[in-house]
Amino acid sequence: MKRPATILILGVQGSGKGTQAELLARRVRMPFYSVGALLREEIRRNTQFGRLAAPYVRRGELVPDDVANAFARLIALRRPGKSIIFDGYPRSLGQARALAALRPPTVVIDVRLADREALVRLTGRRVCPSCGAVWHVRFHPSPKGARCGRCGTRLTTRPDDQPATIRRRLAVYHAYTDPVLRYYRRTKRLVTIDGNRPIAAVAHDVAAAVRQRLRP
Ligand code: AMP
Repeated sequence: MKRPATILILGVQGSGKGTQAELLARRVRMPFYSVGALLREEIRRNTQFGRLAAPYVRRGELVPDDVANAFARLIALRRPGKSIIFDGYPRSLGQARALAALRPPTVVIDVRLADREALVRLTGRRVCPSCGAVWHVRFHPSPKGARCGRCGTRLTTRPDDQPATIRRRLAVYHAYTDPVLRYYRRTKRLVTIDGNRPIAAVAHDVAAAVRQRLRP
């Protein structure tokens, strides 16, 4: 039997990795999981996990590896023998090591974007608190203005999308996730895609890179 694929989408906050993971999932018909989105859901529901993660997410820091790895394990257990896409995991070498033992990645996509561009993008990001859709006032406006183009709920700004927190998140990304990218580059799993282009152009290249790597 063919081994199920494990696809990783990484990139600084604002690179569009979440949007790209969603588009790729549709194109290659695989489910995608975002540890960040799962954490926000736990925080919203005020669960034990959520209460533990909330201060880290609010400060723009990574939650402890044990917590992120527990989510990854749950996701992997839910999809035994099935291909999956991880959005924003792993973000540290400790997480990368845990994933290597769980489901070694087939292909790792790095959606590349300069920090100054990421800052501009994140300050204009709007999210739907109801269905989770992500919009941008300039680059991906909702057809319904201040309401979600998918479900009509009033859009909000993520609490961690404040400029000071964004700067912190970018610094954390470079400190902890750049080494992960270097690790996957050395193991020849990494494909870098220029994220400073229209969503459709990036999505095209992401899908092409993944399909090429998945070919038997
Ligand atoms: P994101 O939606 O991917 O930007 O993630 C939002 C926040 O969730 C991050 O700033 C972290 O606090 C937390 N988070 C998401 N993914 C991870 C991960 N793999 N490891 C640790 N923390 C994470």
